[in-house]
Order: sequence, then structure tokens, then C-alpha cells
Amino acid sequence: MFKKIYKEIKKYDTIVIARHIGVDPDALASQLALKESIQLTFPTKKVYAVGNGSTKFAYLGKLDKLEDYSNFLLIILDTPDKKRIDYKDYSKASSIIKIDHHPFIESFEGLEYIDDKSSSTCEILMELLLKTKLKCNDEIAKLLYYGLVSDSNRFLFDNSTSKTFNLVSIYLKKYHLKLSEIYTNLYLRPLKEKRLEGYISLNMKVTENGVAYIILTNDIISKFKADSASAGNMINNFNFIDEVLVWIIVTEDIKNNNVRVNIRSRGPIINKIAEKYNGGGHALASGARLSSLIEAESLINDIDLVTEKYLKES
Ligand code: AMP
Repeated sequence: MFKKIYKEIKKYDTIVIARHIGVDPDALASQLALKESIQLTFPTKKVYAVGNGSTKFAYLGKLDKLEDYSNFLLIILDTPDKKRIDYKDYSKASSIIKIDHHPFIESFEGLEYIDDKSSSTCEILMELLLKTKLKCNDEIAKLLYYGLVSDSNRFLFDNSTSKTFNLVSIYLKKYHLKLSEIYTNLYLRPLKEKRLEGYISLNMKVTENGVAYIILTNDIISKFKADSASAGNMINNFNFIDEVLVWIIVTEDIKNNNVRVNIRSRGPIINKIAEKYNGGGHALASGARLSSLIEAESLINDIDLVTEKYLKES
């Protein structure tokens, strides 16, 4: 499949690279790394990385302005379903390649490489670059490492396999990666966000089944002068609490007129519930978008029921 992907890339002069809405480091870094690699390999091709960015991830690089492309190959990274593609004109593409590590949801009618055992889309790209003539350099390797460590949460999850470590080892040998700089960029936070994290620890409720949840209204977020995405980005900081098996952060997002939900689990499968609420994701790491805070109560209740069942069965 990697060879087929390479051949398809070689065929097109214009290539657009997209990924999912609600940008995160794996989605953005995979996009920018692949763009750099294609340009390094084929300097005459026009390659565009598109979608909404976030100032928080400015250290990863810049995205391109949307244009009206014609006769182009569209590569969609890190996105399992059409509704989450951060590029509305995907039906105009002459050809589509999908590369993803989420559980399969739907086909994009093109070449598809899906490995839901992979830690990250960046890990898949590390292999793609090693197994084809696509070139790599220190900058590209750094981007790929950013995405991989971010999505594996610094190799904490079971999706960090011997293959993951093997690829990382190869890249560390071949390229110059300054790990301390990478981790500082990824994990440096303003004090107001640390204070908000403290608020969450102090105020989250925990059900009898070990489901922790907090509902952050716009008033609370404003009090900490934080932005609505910041609380959700802290979700992995609550990984190892003895009494907590599943944890949920619900954040009111006035600007986008919706409610963000981030869910993580140390056992019960949560993505099926997330899918019921306009969301999805991985078995133990999911998200959803709700239309109101009231809907959040129903979601929390459903998660609690799944957790109760899990506890009874295990
Ligand atoms: P997050 O909590 O935003 O880090 O997301 C965890 C996982 O769930 C990632 O794989 C996301 O792509 C996925 N995810 C988050 N929000 C949604 C959503 N509204 N719909 C589908 N998948 C989502």
C-alpha cells in the first residue's frame, strides 16, 4: 500500500493535505511533515496544507490559505469520517488518499491506509517515509516525533508497540532531535491553565462507578481567563487517579455555540457512547460536540451505565 500511495503522489502536480476539525498536534504535525516531505522529494509540485489552525500549535508551523484547486490529489490524514474533514471541497478532488489510525468509520473512496493499532498518524508516516522514496530531514523528523509523542501521551498507552519504539529508534539515529525542546513546546502552559486544572481536581464529581466529570460553564472558563479549548486539552492529566476509571470534561463553548466533551477511560469502551452524541474517537479516548449542557447529563449517565456494566463483568 505504501508503494501505491507513493505512486499516486508522484502522479499529481497539485496536492492538498487536509485533516480533522478541532486540530491537535498529531493531525497538524502529520499534515505539515507530509507536505515538507513531498516538496523536498518533488520540488516542482504545489503542495498545500489546509484547515483551521490554532495559535497554541504555532511552533509546529504554518498552514496555507485556501484556494480553488483543480485536478488535485487530496490526502486526508488522521480522520475517520467525512463529517470531520476540515476541508469542505473534498468531493472536487481528482483522487483521494486516506491515512489514519482511528477505528474505521467510512470509506473516502480512494486509496486507504488505516492502522488502528498505530499510536498516531505520524507513526504511520514515519514508516511511509522509510519504505518509499519520500525524503526526510531533521525538521520533518521533528514534526513526526511531535505528533507521535503527543498522541501516545509520551508512550503511556498500549498503542505504543515495539514497532513504535523501533521507528522512534531509527529516527533518533538518523536525525537530530532535541527532545527537551520538543517536550517544552508540547507541555509548557500558562499559570492560568494550571489554576484551572486545580479547579477541576477540586470540583470534579465522582460517581460510585468511578466516573469523574466536571461541567465548565463559560462563566468558570472566563473567571480563569482561559479559552474554551484549554480544559479539554488537560484531559490526559487526570490519567492516574485511583478512584477514577473514566473521566469527562464538559466545556461550554459560547464562541462556537456548542459544548465540547472530552472523555478518557482506563477500561470501559467509550467511543460507542461518544458516537451517540455527535462524537467518536478511539476505544479509550473520545470526544463529542453537544448542542446544550443539558445533553451532557444524559451522556454522563450513559457513560456511567457502561462503566457499571464493565465493573460487573470484570
Ligand atoms: P480529544 O478529547 O479532543 O483529544 O479527542 C480524542 C479522540 O476523539 C481523537 O481521536 C479525536 O479525533 C476524537 N474526537 C474528538 N471529538 C470528536 C467528535 N466530535 N467527533 C468524532 N471524534 C472526535
